[in-house]
Amino acid sequence: MNHINKSTEYWQELDRAHHLHPFTDTKSLNEKGTRVITKADGIYLWDSDGNRVLDGMAGLWCVNIGYGRKELVDAAQRQMMELPYYNTFFQTTNAPATELSQLLAEITPEGLNRVFFANSGSEAVDTVIRLVRRYWQVEGQPDRNVIISRNNAYHGSTVAGASLGGMDPMHEQSGLMMPGIEHIMQPYWYKDGGDLSPEEFGLKAAQALEERILEVGPEKVAAFIGEPIQGAGGVIVPPETYWPEIQRICEKYNILLVADEVICGFGRTGNWFGSETFGIKPDLMSMAKGMSSGYLPISAVMVGDRVADSLIEKSGEFYHGYTYSGHPASCAVAIENIRLMRDEGIVDRVRDETGPYFQKRLRELEDHPLIGEVVGYGLVAGMVMVKNKETRELFENGSEVGNICRDHCFNNGLIMRACGDRMVLSPPLVMTKAEIDELLEKVKYCLDLTA
Ligand code: PLP
Repeated sequence: MNHINKSTEYWQELDRAHHLHPFTDTKSLNEKGTRVITKADGIYLWDSDGNRVLDGMAGLWCVNIGYGRKELVDAAQRQMMELPYYNTFFQTTNAPATELSQLLAEITPEGLNRVFFANSGSEAVDTVIRLVRRYWQVEGQPDRNVIISRNNAYHGSTVAGASLGGMDPMHEQSGLMMPGIEHIMQPYWYKDGGDLSPEEFGLKAAQALEERILEVGPEKVAAFIGEPIQGAGGVIVPPETYWPEIQRICEKYNILLVADEVICGFGRTGNWFGSETFGIKPDLMSMAKGMSSGYLPISAVMVGDRVADSLIEKSGEFYHGYTYSGHPASCAVAIENIRLMRDEGIVDRVRDETGPYFQKRLRELEDHPLIGEVVGYGLVAGMVMVKNKETRELFENGSEVGNICRDHCFNNGLIMRACGDRMVLSPPLVMTKAEIDELLEKVKYCLDLTA
């Protein structure tokens, strides 16, 4: 079927009739009609009316290497011709899954040497829950089954992921939240910091973990999970004091520390993983998105030696897995993606050159009347739109303002996402400085339209 030569109306009509979109108010979308994205190259998308759009979100925080990389397409094609599918269950493996395991052990922080494959970030997070609970069972402490997460965290959309995440609307709609999950405050200084300095507030937010551990009972707490930078929650960058204190508390109570690297992984913050940026030493690490730059679905959990050794020695069969765990074509694409990122020095460039430039230019927006704070690392950033800059007063209905700004961007050649009152950017990591300048011009223009 030729997707390009059909009219926009043709696609909109089919879409209205049959397609239920994720995270979408279908009624209002149907009224205005969906935008149809038809092709992409580099950092740009095109829609079915021929408009060019700068993708300030790298898809959904995932197309780290940019669009149109033939090497990734070739890797998928080669693998599909040779072995399109075979499972890694029971007594077999396939070469790409094995090679990718070794590669991931090499690029992740020390002590993370084993990999469990899945297909999406949500499945990786479900796997984390299964691994953590099984670990404490085999360690003879089955009552250690509570996992502590944070308000406004995003850990996926399955029942387990949504339960672990701290998104109120998801909790309200699902009516089926998992037991054994606790949420503590998020380290959002601009909103909740009051008179405290960011450093003082970072300690306070981390100490909420210790308070909750003591409330629940340390002997019942299995793990703490957090995104190094909360992504879908609006790019909430914790103060510098936060993660070291979380690490100290986890060690004090012998609790597993899980870094959800689904967004921060694969160069986003200027290192291969957000854990390196913040000095976190996780026992487990979930990853997805940038792993294959979104060209094919794949995710994984890196399992640290403490957990892996125990499971291997004591667990017997671990009753968990997905038909497509270690899918050969997805693994082949992930291998090629990591190879290209290494050979082209993409992560180094984000750390040393484009990341600092992007962050410096974005800080100019702090002079804009609508913008309170601008925060970020590498090529991820968030800015909050405020009613009063002096008092840090937020809009009562921040989502409305966010959506207005998002729509202005959308109509003026830029994808910038609204997470409530926070506008967020997470562009492809291959962006040049000139492209960052172009992005900034567009962002400023759209903020002016919103003000
Ligand atoms: N964890 C984090 C930190 C995420 O940001 C996301 C998605 O944005 C997920 C998990 C879920 O990933 P997926 O949408 O691939 O299931």
